[in-house]
Amino acid sequence: MKGDELALAARALEALIPPLRFAVKDGFAGAERLAGFGATVRGAVERARSFGAADSVGLRKLVAEAERFDRAPPSERRRAVARMVAHLGALIPLPPELREAARAARLEPERRPAAAAAPGGSAPAGSAPAPPSPREPEPAPAPAAPAEPRTAAQREDRRRALRRRLAELPRAHPAPRALLEERGRETVEAALEFWPKAYQDRARVGRIRELALGDEGSVLARVVATRVQRMRNGRPLLKVSVADAEPGSAPAALELVFFNPPPWRLKGFAAGDTLFASGKVTEGFGGRRQMSQPEVEKVQPGDSANFGRIVPFYVGPADFQHPALRKLMKRLCDELAPLALDELPPEIRARRALLRRGEALQQVHFPPPGTDPELAGARVSPAFRRLVFEELFFLQLVLARRRRGVRAAPGIAFDTSPAALARAVAPLPFTLTRAQQRVLGEIARDMGRPEPMNRLLQGDVGSGKTAVAFAAGMLAVGSGWQAAMMVPTEILAEQHVRTLAEWLSGSGIEVARVVAAARGREQREARAAVASGRARIAVGTHALLEEEVAFERLGLVVVDEQHRFGVLQRARLMAKGRRPDVLVMTATPIPRTLALAFYGDLDHSKIDELPPGRTPVSTRLFGDSQRRAAYLAVRRELERGHQAYVVYPLVEESEKTDLADATSGAAELARTFEGHTVGLLHGRMRTEEKREVMDRFRSGELHVLVATTVIEVGVDVPNASMMVVEHAERFGLSQLHQLRGRVGRGAARSHCLLIAHFRRAGDDARERLRAMEATQDGFELARVDLRIRGPGELVGTRQSGQKLFEVADLYRDDAILEEAREEALALVEADPDLSRPEHAAAREALVQRWADRLSLAQVG
Ligand code: ADP
Ligand code: MG
Repeated sequence: MKGDELALAARALEALIPPLRFAVKDGFAGAERLAGFGATVRGAVERARSFGAADSVGLRKLVAEAERFDRAPPSERRRAVARMVAHLGALIPLPPELREAARAARLEPERRPAAAAAPGGSAPAGSAPAPPSPREPEPAPAPAAPAEPRTAAQREDRRRALRRRLAELPRAHPAPRALLEERGRETVEAALEFWPKAYQDRARVGRIRELALGDEGSVLARVVATRVQRMRNGRPLLKVSVADAEPGSAPAALELVFFNPPPWRLKGFAAGDTLFASGKVTEGFGGRRQMSQPEVEKVQPGDSANFGRIVPFYVGPADFQHPALRKLMKRLCDELAPLALDELPPEIRARRALLRRGEALQQVHFPPPGTDPELAGARVSPAFRRLVFEELFFLQLVLARRRRGVRAAPGIAFDTSPAALARAVAPLPFTLTRAQQRVLGEIARDMGRPEPMNRLLQGDVGSGKTAVAFAAGMLAVGSGWQAAMMVPTEILAEQHVRTLAEWLSGSGIEVARVVAAARGREQREARAAVASGRARIAVGTHALLEEEVAFERLGLVVVDEQHRFGVLQRARLMAKGRRPDVLVMTATPIPRTLALAFYGDLDHSKIDELPPGRTPVSTRLFGDSQRRAAYLAVRRELERGHQAYVVYPLVEESEKTDLADATSGAAELARTFEGHTVGLLHGRMRTEEKREVMDRFRSGELHVLVATTVIEVGVDVPNASMMVVEHAERFGLSQLHQLRGRVGRGAARSHCLLIAHFRRAGDDARERLRAMEATQDGFELARVDLRIRGPGELVGTRQSGQKLFEVADLYRDDAILEEAREEALALVEADPDLSRPEHAAAREALVQRWADRLSLAQVG
């Protein structure tokens, strides 16, 4: 898809932002009043498609959600809106307040039907799954995997079979079906992709006498007698005495105990029945051995989903719901999984010794005998390997193809001669570090060539990326082109404009500031200056992407702090020029695996050295109750004439409360630091207010700046030597590292004090925050974050509410990622358009199944 089409598609979706904004206003008051919104969404999606947006899962989800919204009662609309915002956020950038409101709504407890939430045996009557019905016919024996279809139509048939809704399956038990549907698994394929979280080995069904007290195991037993007693609360207590099934064994060796069983279970046992039972053997009254709340199943002819094999457990369903769920899964595995298409090119599957997709799906749910349940539970098994490989492979394929496409088309060749380079860096008031010079050399080499540059510049906080971007911009300007630099916040735009204008003073080169807020004369003039070409450099927020922002001759696009931007933005800014060169910059350290996974299509440069004169920031962790000690340290710094930041988070919970936190925090701190001036800065303030507060802090008039995370990126005030972070447990490590990077910019020794509320935080919090104390190395911190919190934090897709991978885990699967990458690159070399018949399925899969990930891969 070409850039300008993308821009149109994105714009079609942007039409949804105002109504959604209306919907979330005043605690979602608007959501209940929106009429016919479903139709609006469908219309927008249709338009986006007509402009060439791929028919992605993301778009389809949006439509599905819109349909649900139309039917939803007012009480459900809030969450429906929140989900629409999430889906939309994965496709286009959204205003922060919209994202925050939706995130808060999604975090509310889900109103689930009572049955799903009720624990084990105390489920109310009627809500538990019915007993395995003896009338239910045996599942057909697994058919041999059908041959891979040769024509597109045949493949489409097979895909359709897997896209069937569970609701259309004949004779599917409603209870497990509802369990899956509640989790959004409404089709056969989605159900098959509901990965187990753990396994239990019940391959061997033993005898009662082989089990000792404390053992967990499964047995084959015969019912001797049943008894119903009453518990003190009047509920029934069912005791079933069982003995080893084969004749001659000692009778009544074990008692199965069920607390408050549902009615069908109360009547479900008769003397002489043979059962499988699984559970832990404990000592009951009078020394009797018992299993309480065991899983049981009457022995029936044929294959059981629950005994005599390694059985899966899933996240969510209660133990007692598992037998019926496994039965349904077993049926899907037997009857439908074999129809799953093998979209991986066959030569790759052979070379990498991978299972077929159908086999993998079957084995993921029901591992073959001999599988180690622990390893399978850790998702290290041949079945998972195949599924992980596939997921990573297609992402890499998308990236490899894009890279090739980018390389192929002609762009601009700038003048990058030594003389031009010298002119580009001349305005800087310092000499570049060696690392900066090297990186600028790499950029200049790209810019000098006619192929468009597509480069990722990584450099730790404070490493001096701005100067490098500036020099690149000057190369563009020197060749008669314009440069645009997009940054995530107005404060940062303001700061960059100030810095650049200072460097350029006297040169006659004009810098325009293009921001969303502060409409009126100033912004009209800025836009006019960019359009006429009078301003050679434009620095701005996502306002740069607006339709009415046009460039006279855009040659270079720089995206700063790229992880803050959404999916289609890079493309949209690019579309304002004709194949401009692109430089994306990030201080969020991206470990190699992540960089490979998400930025595989970019060339990399890295600034691995800080400018001279930096002092390491000493970091200390404080508990909530130690705040006084922390503030004492702040006061000492203030007394030395230095300045301090105090940062409050603005995440998850209600924006209002957090704001109140920062506001009351500021008032409180004004008292604590009597004799010093305290200012407040937050995202809700008007541009001029923010600018004024920042100015006063920069000039030293304010000593303490209390802020929400609006200062997270890029603010540069060298005299500030103290950073205090409240509720540090709520931040990701990379974010904390960014915040810490606000200090340590001058010569003074700097400090970062993290105040954490451990009681409310998860177990991981302490471990993560200790890492902040232990290291200054952003890359090490990113690795820790990746291990503990997963990749969403790092690439900034957390807002989108979308999971990055269904099954892959970049930390665990880095070796598979390398293999998948090799294969993807080789495939694109050998058959760039995937036009060979054996690659047809892969080509279709890219569009049909992986389009969604494709959009994620465009982050940056
Ligand atoms: P970041 O990479 O985090 O965006 P900045 O570009 O904001 O870092 O640079 C941080 C600070 O270091 C700025 O004050 C900048 O002027 C200064 N700086 C950058 N490069 C050099 C250099 N080579 N020598 C001295 N100071 C530098
Ligand atoms: Mg920066």
